Amino acid sequence: MELAGKKILVIGLGESGLACGLFLAGRGAEVRLTENRRGPGLETERGKLEAAGVRVELGGHSEAFLEGLDLVVTSPGVPPESRPIQAALQSGIPVWSELELAYRFCPAPILAVTGTNGKSTVVTLLRDVLKAAGRPVVLSGNIRPAFISVVDRLTATDTVILEVSSFQLEWIERFRPKLSLLLNITADHLDRYPDFGSYRKAKLRIFENQAGDDIALLNYDDPESRVAGAGFKGRTFFYSRREKEGRFFSDGRHLFLPDGEKFLEIPPSRLWGVHNQENILAVCAAARLYGLPSEAMAGAIRNFQPLAHRLEPVARKQGVQYIDDSKATNVDSTLRALQSFPKDSGRVLLILGGKDKGGSYRPLREALSGQPAEVILIGEAAERISAELAGTVPIHRTGAVRLAAGRARPGDTVLLSPACSSFDMFKDYAQRGNSFKEAVAGLP
Ligand code: ADP
Repeated sequence: MELAGKKILVIGLGESGLACGLFLAGRGAEVRLTENRRGPGLETERGKLEAAGVRVELGGHSEAFLEGLDLVVTSPGVPPESRPIQAALQSGIPVWSELELAYRFCPAPILAVTGTNGKSTVVTLLRDVLKAAGRPVVLSGNIRPAFISVVDRLTATDTVILEVSSFQLEWIERFRPKLSLLLNITADHLDRYPDFGSYRKAKLRIFENQAGDDIALLNYDDPESRVAGAGFKGRTFFYSRREKEGRFFSDGRHLFLPDGEKFLEIPPSRLWGVHNQENILAVCAAARLYGLPSEAMAGAIRNFQPLAHRLEPVARKQGVQYIDDSKATNVDSTLRALQSFPKDSGRVLLILGGKDKGGSYRPLREALSGQPAEVILIGEAAERISAELAGTVPIHRTGAVRLAAGRARPGDTVLLSPACSSFDMFKDYAQRGNSFKEAVAGLP
């Protein structure tokens, strides 16, 4: 695709927008970038873009910037109803995400992973399996670096592993992975989508252009993924921890092919929790379908260093265990965290709350009722959570770590697994997790 001389508008000056602007300018396009925020925090990025010849406007989207365009490239954070997107659509100008743009220039086969939860863990472990097999591999997408910032150094002998979000999939046209893996679809981002159906539809677009030998891999145990698998044009496979027949299957100790043949004894690893059994199965099924040997899978699982802020054990103090699961930004991930503690393992003091994303907290009622637990609420969502969980377990409204520590007895666990995003109080989930860790470090 020829970009030289094309008039292209990039919307949004985050990491993705910056990388797209530089890429397009580097290929001779006439690039404009528009961003509705303004402030000193954006000046470094503006400087980099202007040095590359990109025209930048901050603090709003002017008419002049929307004139005479050939293409619009939008960033994941920009809502579809934003004015420049709507104006482009009305004029018949294509709107792409960074994912689509990068795909057009990517010479390497793509293994793409999406799902509500588990993406980062799965793509990282899958990357490790390829490495262990001695295959050249590049990991990018949501997990960073941005896909567009790595395409220039890829060759046909590399493999790209991409973590893909629903926001990136909203604006694809031809994006076609060699293998697409869907881990699960549960309620999330309902503050951004009109309803669950729209969110699901965006996620399923990861399979949209697959055909022939391409592979679709889905989680049979996830109700939304199971029904989605019918009617795909590529080769479709499922994995399951419940039903063996015709699926990649895990009994918790061994993994089996769809024809029932055993292909891996799962080695001991630091990946704990029920959902990680699912993640290991998903990774190994994908690796097997991509032709990688079982020894590479075993080596990668054995040596895997779990990612920070995902059920991360932080400290044990006075017999109380502290766990940072700040990346649990929706209800299903918090449910999985609760399910990962045996019922007889002491009480769980669960720190919940943050910025509300519009989903229901009621699914937590059952998990909490069956468990000796207490809840400590933080952030904007406290009121709603308190109302939806009333009558299940004791609920406290202030104090977070200190309060939890004060109430915990030896054998208990203090778990930060908030089921909400962090943006009401923190820059991101990592800052929230680090602030938890600091508070824990300050305890006697
Ligand atoms: P993502 O990149 O999709 O956000 P992560 O691997 O970063 O996924 O994990 C996010 C949260 O979801 C963490 O709290 C983690 O413990 C939890 N989690 C990981 N894998 C799964 C899974 N397969 N199902 C449900 N929750 C999961």
